[in-house]
Amino acid sequence: MIALEGISKTYPKSTTPAVQELDLQVPEGSISMFIGPSGCGKTTTLKMMNRLIEPTTGRILLDGDDVTDVNADELRRRIGYVIQQVGLFPHFTIGDNIAVVPKILGWDRNRIAARVDELLHLVGLEPKDYRDRYPRQLSGGQQQRVGVARGLAADPSVMLMDEPVGAIDPITRERIQDEFLELQQIAKTICFVTHDLTEAVKLGDRIAVFGPGGTLQQYDTPDMILTHPANEFVAEFVGAGAAVRRLSLLELSRLELQPVDLDGTAASNGSPTYEADAQGRPVRWAYLPGTADLPKLVTVPRTGTVYDAVDVMLDSQTELVGVVDEQQKLQGALWWRDLVEGLTTKAGS
Ligand code: ADP
Ligand code: MG
Repeated sequence: MIALEGISKTYPKSTTPAVQELDLQVPEGSISMFIGPSGCGKTTTLKMMNRLIEPTTGRILLDGDDVTDVNADELRRRIGYVIQQVGLFPHFTIGDNIAVVPKILGWDRNRIAARVDELLHLVGLEPKDYRDRYPRQLSGGQQQRVGVARGLAADPSVMLMDEPVGAIDPITRERIQDEFLELQQIAKTICFVTHDLTEAVKLGDRIAVFGPGGTLQQYDTPDMILTHPANEFVAEFVGAGAAVRRLSLLELSRLELQPVDLDGTAASNGSPTYEADAQGRPVRWAYLPGTADLPKLVTVPRTGTVYDAVDVMLDSQTELVGVVDEQQKLQGALWWRDLVEGLTTKAGS
């Protein structure tokens, strides 16, 4: 876990702080996205975490250790850092660029070579094709991946990423984001600066919204940021359309759905009841509370989003949709009125 306690930074010769009284905790294995207007202290905050700059006041704990007590090599091993400009060394091969930190740490050649190949593989660049090339022989997106591989080289427990996919075209960007979500399953603790709210919502477990003078305006789940902005600044920042944006980001698997019963099995407790075919797949509604007029049973996979559910409801002109799992078994129902009255997400998701 990373904990910032009362962190402030005023640069020399500056009269106003770049970061002010920052208290923030990033739980182990989670991603926190830093977002906010330019100049509000996001980069400064990351650089204090890996001690490229020293805070003026406050302390930073990494798994309980004050980072100022950890020596620089040890910190480099524990923290990977990826910056927007990539910063690959032009005269080093891709392999040598990735190997920078392991070399500093004195790993032997075989171990370094194996690690380089493993990482190239991980970021989707075939080692034998890319290992010996130079940065200029790669596209911007590919260089970006090399930057990520380099950040991961010494298997750090923490990754700091400063707009790592900022300068990339939208399609490559989306692919990298998806790959990144897979990468994260290595259970890294990640702080990730972005200027893109959609990216923040997609990738983040939590979002930190920074404001003028390096003040933290809100630190919360994407859902809460979008639906309960803490103040005018955050409301303005997330902007119009936040509620609709949330629909396309909220996965059905995260919702508390209305329970449904298979017809003729459970004792009726007023839940919607459906009939199923021999494989247990839903066929039609048998009973719905409060109405004798049974609509067609339409379904949407639980891997879809609320937006998909709305689409199905509008398309089939029904007020409810069944949510099915990968085996087409009905998991529950979502009503139109739930959307209007407010969706409830499951605890802890
Ligand atoms: P962000 O990453 O959110 O755009 P920064 O952390 O880069 O913001 O900058 C925060 C503030 O600190 C800005 O006002 C910026 O001009 C100032 N700043 C950043 N780096 C330095 C520096 N090395 N010396 C003096 N001021 C700096
Ligand atoms: Mg910055």
